[in-house]
Amino acid sequence: MKKVVVDRVICLKAGQCYYLQPSIFKADPQGWPDILVEFPESDDDIEAAEDAAEICPSGAIVVEDA
Ligand code: SF4
Repeated sequence: MKKVVVDRVICLKAGQCYYLQPSIFKADPQGWPDILVEFPESDDDIEAAEDAAEICPSGAIVVEDA
């Protein structure tokens, strides 16, 4: 099983995750990313979460084994 984690200490609120992968993330009212799918199961969701981890400019997103 996979788990999506966002480290808010290093998140820049740049928004790439929720703009480019809105099936996995959405912006909260302050611009922080909320994780919509914390435990992605389908290949599409896992790929989307891993893509977000790659494009995050601060490296704040990790898709780890849960
Ligand atoms: S892409 Fe990275 S830095 Fe930007 S809002 Fe998402 S987690 Fe934060």
